[in-house]
Amino acid sequence: MSYKRFHIETDPAPAKFPMPYKFNPRSNRFRLAKMLLQESLHYRLNKEVILSRPCIYGVFSGRFGGFMPIKEKCVGCMRCVQEYPNIMKVDYSEEYLKLGDSYWTPEAVSTIGYEASTGKIPVKGMGYKGPFTGEGFDSMWTDMSEIVRPTRDGLYGREFISTVVDMGRKVPYLQFTRHPSPITHHPSRILEIPIPILFDALPEKVTNDGIQFVIASASQRLNTYFIARKVEQLQRAFDSGMSTPPVPENWIPLVSSSDLEGTIHESFLKKARIIEYEYDGGEGYKFLREINPQAILSVRIPLGEDTEKIAATLTREGVDILHLCANYQGRAGSMHLKDVLLNVHTHLVEEGIRDEVTIVASGGIISAEHVPKAILCGADLVALDTTLLVALQSEFAGECISHEDCGLRPRKIEVRWGAQRLVNLMASWHNQLIEILSAMGMRDVRRLRGEVGRSMTYEELEEEAFGGIEKVSSSKQ
Ligand code: SF4
Repeated sequence: MSYKRFHIETDPAPAKFPMPYKFNPRSNRFRLAKMLLQESLHYRLNKEVILSRPCIYGVFSGRFGGFMPIKEKCVGCMRCVQEYPNIMKVDYSEEYLKLGDSYWTPEAVSTIGYEASTGKIPVKGMGYKGPFTGEGFDSMWTDMSEIVRPTRDGLYGREFISTVVDMGRKVPYLQFTRHPSPITHHPSRILEIPIPILFDALPEKVTNDGIQFVIASASQRLNTYFIARKVEQLQRAFDSGMSTPPVPENWIPLVSSSDLEGTIHESFLKKARIIEYEYDGGEGYKFLREINPQAILSVRIPLGEDTEKIAATLTREGVDILHLCANYQGRAGSMHLKDVLLNVHTHLVEEGIRDEVTIVASGGIISAEHVPKAILCGADLVALDTTLLVALQSEFAGECISHEDCGLRPRKIEVRWGAQRLVNLMASWHNQLIEILSAMGMRDVRRLRGEVGRSMTYEELEEEAFGGIEKVSSSKQ
């Protein structure tokens, strides 16, 4: 077999539901008319010169010579404002500013829309005029000091940059006995996936069968896995005498203790490669291990104060994957997902058991840069939730905070179109991950895990710059 570099095929899948224009270019018609008059006299009615404008996108030169700018074409480059400051004004459109909610900024929604439509990396111009730092992942930067290294030039480089990650339990050490084969402490259960991204379970009220099918289909094309709470639905199908439905191999069934108390269909769980159990303080996951000893066992842990201790206990109990879930805004009480991840990762390292277990992080991962940042904080891979719905153009109908309180309204979509949008989104994120890894001089995303030394946080920089300097109170100033 010849060598083949992992590549995700993209195909344009433009928005089916209208998106608001981002920019609102406006001309002062009185001043524009005055300028046209002056130019007409100066250039002796030379139409070509008089009607030429500095906008290469035809926004400000097309329809009626700039009196009615073509808003949908404006990219916000601000050249017209620089050249005609008294005539042109470019703002964000009002409809655009209404996109999203308090966590999903208009910029985040439109970026996901662009990535899902084209599969390309968004290029942002105009310079950055936003705040220097923010909350959560926005207070963290990656060390790009290797950006000029010629042999690791990202997507088109001569060196291959691997984004493959392992899911499951690794053997901590080998125990040799008199038998010819080594006996291990815990058996190794590992699966490889080509991108460090899973698709997470979504609340039933914000999905429909179409969306669930789109997620299953896209994850199959990407060779990754999706988590879904469908056991009950399958159970109903079995009970009503239907034949066994085909079980997608990349489906991770999400099982709760109430599923275990009911009549759970064991033959279905026996086929799964990975099973996820919703942690509730009990030991139901042990029952799942008995049902299917070959499957990789994941436990979904809502983040709280004792997360590190729970993570260590479950790792010692032989759980293969710890799925740490923040809410849809990346928060767990007063803490952000990145801080909890760092605490759990550090605690497991101190206990000497970090390498045995896989950590999946989810909640608030809404931008391509959040993937390497979560991995830097100690995750092996991430799981996406509301990002999938935004890529599928679900409508915001309120705040999107948690599984129980999610203000997204699903739309009826075509499966082919939706699956292509998710594939495009992942192609764009995969390329951006490679670009970041290349700029950090890394050839393997697995090397990035917990490499906090290759990142900077606002809190650390502030401490470095101002630590030890006494704060001057306002009364002394
Ligand atoms: S901001 Fe740029 S694209 Fe928009 S009207 Fe002005 S010159 Fe044209």
